[in-house]
Amino acid sequence: MVENHAKGFYNWYMQNTIIIFLVTFLLTACATTPVSERQALILIPKSQEIAFGKQAYQQALKDQKDSDDAHLNQVLQRVGRRIAEVSDMPKLDWEFRLIESKEKNAFALPGGKVAVYTGMLRICENEAGLATVLSHEIAHVIARHGAQRMSQQLLLTGAMMGASISMRNNTQRNIIMGALGLGVLYGITLPFSRGDEGEADQIGLVYMAKAGYDPEEAIQFWQRFSIVKGDKNPPEWASTHPADKTRIAGLKTYLSRAKYKYQNIKLKHGLGETFNLPAEKTDKKEPEKPKPVPGVSVETFN
Ligand SMILES: [Zn+2]
Repeated sequence: MVENHAKGFYNWYMQNTIIIFLVTFLLTACATTPVSERQALILIPKSQEIAFGKQAYQQALKDQKDSDDAHLNQVLQRVGRRIAEVSDMPKLDWEFRLIESKEKNAFALPGGKVAVYTGMLRICENEAGLATVLSHEIAHVIARHGAQRMSQQLLLTGAMMGASISMRNNTQRNIIMGALGLGVLYGITLPFSRGDEGEADQIGLVYMAKAGYDPEEAIQFWQRFSIVKGDKNPPEWASTHPADKTRIAGLKTYLSRAKYKYQNIKLKHGLGETFNLPAEKTDKKEPEKPKPVPGVSVETFN
């Protein structure tokens, strides 16, 4: 009997110790997001999060070709820099790379590592469209959504193994890459939660307005993206960024705050430059050219 009591007390003591430990741990592990001011659970130190971002960036881009279009590169640099400067982390080591690819894709990683694929510029159409994508992605970085997802996934899958988390461990690496939105490359695709998406939209709109871009273009961008997403081959970005009526309705509710910021910004760029990209080449067979008919010019068919 005595032994059982002792055992019972021991179990009770251990359970409560674990709960007290966890509560203390979770309280100290909370971070507040900027703009939306939400408490978030983050179990990964910022320095480690940034190091993972840099490693993931290198891995994701190691077989990709940078665009050699000097002008578009220049546009990406200026839009990215303008947004980074007005963001809540202007001191991060921001890097913006334009990747030559038909893919309609873009991503940003902890540590300020950003990549946009040339195919994405077609949906962006203009600088303000690009500012929509960049500010939304930058907002994911600043709200530390990657670190939150890494924390949740490592805990859920039991892959946290003490305090050691490493990109050298295959399971952990796949979870980290998936949590950072690079799952398509590594087998695990984690769509951002509706909450994360709404938050990135909300923060992104404010950043784009503070950077001098007309925030109304964000609505236009997401409407264009919805149409492309409905195509037979939806872009990779669609797997983590669903565009739907709820999202566009949400954006409209955040718009007034962003417009107020925009009105008070001295240097406005409006929509900025329009991208006049050459027509997209398709893999489909070109339709046969009409054969010349004597006496009729075929030029009108081209
Ligand atoms: Zn997103």
